[in-house]
Amino acid sequence: MNIKNSFKNWPDESGFFGNFGGRYVAETLMPLIKDVEKNYNIYCKDKNFINELDYYLKNFVGRPSPLYYAERITKDLGGGKIYFKRDELNHTGAHKINNCLGQILLAKRMGKKRIIAETGAGQHGVAVATVCALFNLPCIIYMGSKDITRQSPNVFRMKLLGAKVIAVDTGSRSLKDAMNEALRDWVTNVKNTFYIIGTVAGPHPYPKMVRDFQSIIGKEVKEQIFKKEKKMPDLLIACIGGGSNAIGLFYDFLDNKEVKMIAVEAAGLGIKSGKHASSLSGGKPGVLHGNKTYLLQTKSGQIKEAHSISAGLDYPGIGPEHAFLFEQKRVNYVSVTDEEAIKAFKYCSKLEGIIPALEPSHALAHLIKVAPKMNKNKIIVMNMCGRGDKDIFTVAEKLKVKINE
Ligand SMILES: *Cc1c(COP(=O)(O)O)cnc(C)c1O
Repeated sequence: MNIKNSFKNWPDESGFFGNFGGRYVAETLMPLIKDVEKNYNIYCKDKNFINELDYYLKNFVGRPSPLYYAERITKDLGGGKIYFKRDELNHTGAHKINNCLGQILLAKRMGKKRIIAETGAGQHGVAVATVCALFNLPCIIYMGSKDITRQSPNVFRMKLLGAKVIAVDTGSRSLKDAMNEALRDWVTNVKNTFYIIGTVAGPHPYPKMVRDFQSIIGKEVKEQIFKKEKKMPDLLIACIGGGSNAIGLFYDFLDNKEVKMIAVEAAGLGIKSGKHASSLSGGKPGVLHGNKTYLLQTKSGQIKEAHSISAGLDYPGIGPEHAFLFEQKRVNYVSVTDEEAIKAFKYCSKLEGIIPALEPSHALAHLIKVAPKMNKNKIIVMNMCGRGDKDIFTVAEKLKVKINE
């Protein structure tokens, strides 16, 4: 197999996607990570493992999620035909559960008795706490103390689900620091602990493993679109935080050259303002959380905090596979501001009866720009990766509406 013949053959054996990825961790972590890799390589091909994952995806998560023709938006924009992949209908309201289920089943196979994770907005924390409740495993979530204050409803959800939430008071007291703390815990509790990472980041094999678990999204889309349209989609669109929902949609199509792909980063208050979360448009390569990728950093290489109205896109890095697909120009990376995302959020709610999360509202905002320029026979699939119930307070505040009066 020559890995260069296919975008789908990456990463290489050392976990590199071209120049990006790898395994930049302390010596003490190496055996742990190699053990995860060894077991993942065994179980990802194991019939019982695959069947058990399928069972829970179907009966607990509610997969397959529908591929829905967004008729009113299509007609209103007057261009390409728009479909939404409805991953917001998953249990817990987003795509993150697809990956958490895969990882906890692996943890169980490996005999691990304790689950740790980090969370920024709290959405990954809630998904991890959910699968830990399902499989009766103790769950410890690291969260920056600043995020604990900002995201109190999700903190309460995690506690209801039985998780222990540990406040991290170091550094900027947000996601980056929580991730460092989780890695520290892992080194200390080597034998019994499994670390569930929430996006396609971290040291090899995490970017590959998370991608594989999320690629169910694109696999379903391929079947569904063939049934409905008897052809490939012309364009796929998804939003990017770390990049798991986007690669989940794209992966199965990477070698179908006729399928164009756009990934939408959060431009926050605008790239020039410096207050954004666009690692590709506004960052440069460096090393963070065990892999080499594009990062938001200062001139001297300090990690800069990301800003976005959508908490889920607020990560200063991007998965290494995206850095690779960016440099290969296989995927087009663009960015959308807070303001544009809010407009799309309102537009979709009124026109389709679907209140989208602020994250996919970024993808939708870009779709609104490109769809009218496309011919009516062109097909667009957007990943509706989360529902907006969690965001109504943020949007109300931004629109200066008081919802309790
Ligand atoms: C967490 C989250 C994201 C960002 O993560 P990715 O790994 O980039 O998918 C996007 N949308 C929703 C709804 C999320 O919860």
